[in-house]
Amino acid sequence: MASAPRVRFAPSPTGYLHIGGARTALFNYLYARRQGGAFILRIEDTDQERSTPESVKAILDGLEWLGIDWDEGPGKEGAHGPYFQTQRMDLYRKYTEQLIAEGKAYRCYCTREEIDARRSAVEKQTGKPGTYKYEGTCRNRTDVPEGRTSVVRFRMPDGEGRVTFDDKVLGPITKEYSDLDDWVMVRADGIPLYNFGCVIDDYTMGITLVGRGQEHVNSTFPQLMLYQALGWQPPDFAHFPLILGPDREKLSKRKHPEADVMLHKRNGILPEALLNFVVRLGWSHGNEEVISRQQMVEWFDFDHVGTTSGVWNPDKLMWLNQQWMKLLPAPVVAERLAPFLQARGVELPPGDPRLERVVLAFRERAKTLDEMAATALKYFQHGVEWEEKAATKHLTADSRPLLARVREEVAALPQWTAPTLDEVVKRVSEQAGVGMGKVAQPVRVATTGGTVSPGIGETLELLGREETLHRLDAALARP
Ligand code: GLU
Repeated sequence: MASAPRVRFAPSPTGYLHIGGARTALFNYLYARRQGGAFILRIEDTDQERSTPESVKAILDGLEWLGIDWDEGPGKEGAHGPYFQTQRMDLYRKYTEQLIAEGKAYRCYCTREEIDARRSAVEKQTGKPGTYKYEGTCRNRTDVPEGRTSVVRFRMPDGEGRVTFDDKVLGPITKEYSDLDDWVMVRADGIPLYNFGCVIDDYTMGITLVGRGQEHVNSTFPQLMLYQALGWQPPDFAHFPLILGPDREKLSKRKHPEADVMLHKRNGILPEALLNFVVRLGWSHGNEEVISRQQMVEWFDFDHVGTTSGVWNPDKLMWLNQQWMKLLPAPVVAERLAPFLQARGVELPPGDPRLERVVLAFRERAKTLDEMAATALKYFQHGVEWEEKAATKHLTADSRPLLARVREEVAALPQWTAPTLDEVVKRVSEQAGVGMGKVAQPVRVATTGGTVSPGIGETLELLGREETLHRLDAALARP
């Protein structure tokens, strides 16, 4: 039997966790969970100018918020650590020396200026930017030029050949050797470049399948050449489709603020909803839209990862969030709602029962926790401001006696619950011989300031006895 799969997410900590990264992490995580394998988190922090500890933290926080937990990685040392590339330098040095000794890599003393000059000359000649290939100037060099530093380049095999792999999503892909060049493995300061560090780590960490975004397809060829040179069996590869922003441009940190995972947390999106949204960017299971983590684990496979780009649909995210606000148990949503009310200055005693009532009362209308907090805010404040139009229409001389009646009866209620409060409104309207709305609406305006709120009993229950009476008195005292 084949051993359990090992997959990884290998972010470069140069900013927040973005949606593309979260999707890569999620697909790998789901694959590992479904197959009973291991999900490894490796931090590719060799770009020391751009990597920051804050960014590492931001990535870990983002994954934690989404509930994508890793089996090995930062904070979870395993047999294959360390999990930060900057702590694995000895390993890269060892394989660099080995490859040089075997003639499979060599030191190149060409300066950056020389390479740049050659590149622009070639590009000028061909008119095709991005096509320059290193000429192999230092391939057979035996001298060590004085005063020059060296990078280490991979030596492509001589002669013709091709490198092929069978991508789990895209199918077989091939490249001719002639399309590849002697790429740089290690910089002059000894820092490994991505393709080199990635292969050494994927292999030494026992990775069996590399799942990552399609932007890395072209990196797979030099990486496979390195596996071949080292005599290592390469892992499987699966490349996931691009994610496009709502404007159908590639989702990028610069252009699309929504690329930031944590922005959605701040906006009051539930992690369950964002995870659901993200999994559908490039993967589907029939027509299922609302998918729980458990179902994802049960259903996820690479066969249903698409090859066409996933497009960001903001309405869909909102819709999913509302679905999840309704699906999750009210106490869970209540707990998540609390910080949004606190941010608006509401003081909440621990376990405040009003929170759950707010969730039950507003989850049909609010699309985000933030929106829910904004709508619910007036139920937590002392006093109310009436909307001019609503007050003129509903707080009239005619409605005043009805309001007064309600005030009197609710004040005497032994139990302050939605049904008993509804009962009062019903009774008062029957006694006055008017429809229930004729009583409920003035009460609603008096106590909430506007004409829209949950059921009247629910509304008053939420406000509580003291605050309801206070507001009714204030409305009755209006000139
Ligand atoms: N550090 C690379 C990145 O963030 C990893 C790519 C890979 O998964 O191989 O793009």
